[in-house]
Amino acid sequence: MPAQAPSRAPAPPRRRTALRHRLAELRGADVPAQPLDARALAALAANPGCRRRALLDGAGVDKTALARSLGSPSGFGQSQFAFMRGNAFEARVKADGGAELLRLTHGRLGGGPEPAPGESAVPELAAAGPEGRAARTALALREATESGGWTLLDHPMLALDVAGTLAFLEPDAVVVHPDGGWTVVEIKSFPMIDGSADAAKVGAAARQAAVYALALERVAERLDPAPPVRHHVLLVCPKDFSNLPTASAIDVRKQLSVTRRQLARLTRVEDIAAELPEGVTFDVRRPAAELTAAVEAVPATYAPECLSACELAFHCRARAREEGEVTSLGRAIRGELGGLTTVSAVLAAAGVGSEGAGGREDPGDPAVAALRRAAGLRAEALAGGSALTGGGALGGASC
Ligand code: SF4
Repeated sequence: MPAQAPSRAPAPPRRRTALRHRLAELRGADVPAQPLDARALAALAANPGCRRRALLDGAGVDKTALARSLGSPSGFGQSQFAFMRGNAFEARVKADGGAELLRLTHGRLGGGPEPAPGESAVPELAAAGPEGRAARTALALREATESGGWTLLDHPMLALDVAGTLAFLEPDAVVVHPDGGWTVVEIKSFPMIDGSADAAKVGAAARQAAVYALALERVAERLDPAPPVRHHVLLVCPKDFSNLPTASAIDVRKQLSVTRRQLARLTRVEDIAAELPEGVTFDVRRPAAELTAAVEAVPATYAPECLSACELAFHCRARAREEGEVTSLGRAIRGELGGLTTVSAVLAAAGVGSEGAGGREDPGDPAVAALRRAAGLRAEALAGGSALTGGGALGGASC
């Protein structure tokens, strides 16, 4: 079954052009836009409350360069060696017109007779610019579905509306089956040993693939009848410790529904941009102080998960700690504390330290009551500990 229709209508062309200009201003004169990839979109969907990230990604700001200019460089990036190894493996998987890749797809997902060598199609997808490539991909998908054979689309281009701006995404491959179904293929260089791989890496690959499947569904919805986008993606990895490819079908239904819901929750980029003061720019060539003020003008919701997902994590963490925000302790703790959003408010509620007597907060608030009880237990434990230590009850004992 094709997915439900997008929850928001795309903006009319004139508004889109105005928004494009505004975002180009924010990025800085002559600064090319950084394309959004599926990894970035999956991370954006994981923290939909962060307006800062939504705006910077929507404007195509190079967050790695911005973090460097702010004086808080990120630890992101893939080594050149890993990059070359990944490219060599992908080329091997797709060699001979994708014969091995199509064999693996058929073996794991079926969808028609076994692909015969030399009879599968690999259409040319080259075109000018991302819009041109996305249009060429959509045409190739339609033709492949009508052909009723096996087709491999190598690095197709898909467009997805994200918070009012178009993101262009490039999966490793998409396979069209003879039964008309479409499958997203992710090729990774981490090993699959005895049929299983590192769960965290598989999870990250599944979240990325779900973003591609979502974008693919948008293309399918424009065809009549809409071809089914499979909710199992094909993950291809090196087998054991060799360079031979093996594959597994990954069910991404859960990731798809989470991504769909989270992307729909993102505040529109144009609304965030409209709230910025006049003259704000994220041009990474500007002085650090000016950039810091610009970044701070957009609200953020830092969480420790940002450390593995966003290039600005060190900057946002430092700010969250300076402000004493409890979000820096984790979302679970933040949720438990209800309306107490700063560490000083928590200490005051508990009535400990130099933060006051703790009499201002509502004692009926479950978070305040729990904090006071915890503070009382801690005080008792400390008093008991000092009595034992001070009295030497155990200090001089020998066994
Ligand atoms: S690191 Fe900062 S900008 Fe990035 S998602 Fe977290 S709070 Fe938002």
